[in-house]
Amino acid sequence: MQKRSVLEARGAETIGQQVCLEGWVRTRRDSKGGFSFIELNDGSCLANIQVIADDKLPNYENEIKHLTPGCSIRVVGEVKESQGKGQSTEVQAAEVFLYGTADAETYPLQKKRHTFEKLREWAHLRTRSNTFGSVFRVRNRVSFSIHQFFQERGFLYVNTPIITASDCEGAGEMFRVTTLDVQEPPKVNGKVDFSKDFFARPAFLTVSGQLEGEIFATSLGRVYTFGPTFRAENSNTSRHLAEFWMVEPEIAFADLEANMEVAEAFLKRIFTDVMNDCADDMAFFNERIEPGILDTLQGIVETEFLRCSYTDAVEILQKSGHQFEYPVSWGMDLQSEHERYLTEQHFKRPVILHDYPRSIKPFYMRCNEDGKTVRAMDVLVPKVGEIIGGSQREERLDVLESRMAEQGLNAQDYWWYLDLRRYGTVPHSGFGLGLERVLQFITGMGNIRDVIPFPRTPGWAEF
Ligand code: ATP
Ligand code: MG
Ligand code: MG
Ligand code: MG
Repeated sequence: MQKRSVLEARGAETIGQQVCLEGWVRTRRDSKGGFSFIELNDGSCLANIQVIADDKLPNYENEIKHLTPGCSIRVVGEVKESQGKGQSTEVQAAEVFLYGTADAETYPLQKKRHTFEKLREWAHLRTRSNTFGSVFRVRNRVSFSIHQFFQERGFLYVNTPIITASDCEGAGEMFRVTTLDVQEPPKVNGKVDFSKDFFARPAFLTVSGQLEGEIFATSLGRVYTFGPTFRAENSNTSRHLAEFWMVEPEIAFADLEANMEVAEAFLKRIFTDVMNDCADDMAFFNERIEPGILDTLQGIVETEFLRCSYTDAVEILQKSGHQFEYPVSWGMDLQSEHERYLTEQHFKRPVILHDYPRSIKPFYMRCNEDGKTVRAMDVLVPKVGEIIGGSQREERLDVLESRMAEQGLNAQDYWWYLDLRRYGTVPHSGFGLGLERVLQFITGMGNIRDVIPFPRTPGWAEF
């Protein structure tokens, strides 16, 4: 007997086959004449399969007629053509085996609808709902697309450390993993003393793998990292998490224009893949969560991204006549309200902003000749704002050293990073894409906490 997923059994090619299906009951409806319809879901797709069980089955009266939402069962039976709406097949059960019951009084996912906020309290069960099943199937497809896109272009997947000593962004948003706050490791009799602290030096969870990624780019050429990232920032927004997943390509011999081209092709590839391979899930989001998202994605795939300098964007915002909470002036970092205005009201599509003021950007970004700006870029999309942040990196040793001094950084702490410029330096670029941000955009889910399995935010306690 072949085990099949609901997705497989819904295909017309299985008609006439004996199959074994396993999953969770969504609903049960009893019909006069001694049979019941069971809607079964196993997470392989949004849709359920209809199982028909009749009173010839030995456990019909004492088990099948008591099945409630959430019960787990195995069904063995024949796939038949179905006359029902929205389904081409159904299963006539020859056997229904009950794995586990689900108390109808206490099981949270009854017919009653819950808010997404409430469902976060049941992070362990919400994945069985339609919305979260779709979110995590799309998340899976996007993760796979990320690897496919880079692998097909000859990028190597590299792993950068989770525990690190360098604050790449210089924003002071690192989670500390050791208690010691000294520059030099304490020593006893000339030997490092680990008795008070595991590493005998300050250590943190990574905010970005970029600096270490540059090591690989300047030796292997084209690389990308894809892993968990941590930021101890005020993540009480709908777009920030304390723990999120970031994709960070780093490309040797690439300037900012080449970087923008990769970013654009990358996003288009992800959007195309989810539309092709998650059609049912995307139809669900299009209908229930973000009306029009499919047209939006299709439009993005078909048109070129706009490019606009930070300086021009500031002028657009200033001349807009729009009342912003934070008035715009040259030199400030743009807030989400500004990014949203640009993409939603002004350009009405994604835009890549570039050449930001150097005073608001980290030390590693390449300085322009004007002395005021750096070769930074942000990809902005409607609703979510920034989904990609990147830059061309400063490859000139002397400029990099003076930038570090300007920002009060100790060059000795970055000796290995400076070595990459000291020996065979090359122009190079890269960017970071937040997996959850892109998922928010694709699914239309309003809160970033609803596109990651276990959201970590300030005051997190639930799960
Ligand atoms: P923002 O301006 O939204 O705070 P950022 O400029 O601080 O983002 P970068 O350092 O440029 O972020 O990181 C690259 C990408 O990582 C961002 O474009 C975004 O997609 C994602 N990202 C950054 N911080 C977070 C966060 N706290 N939670 C989820 N994703 C994030
Ligand atoms: Mg930030
Ligand atoms: Mg930003
Ligand atoms: Mg950024």
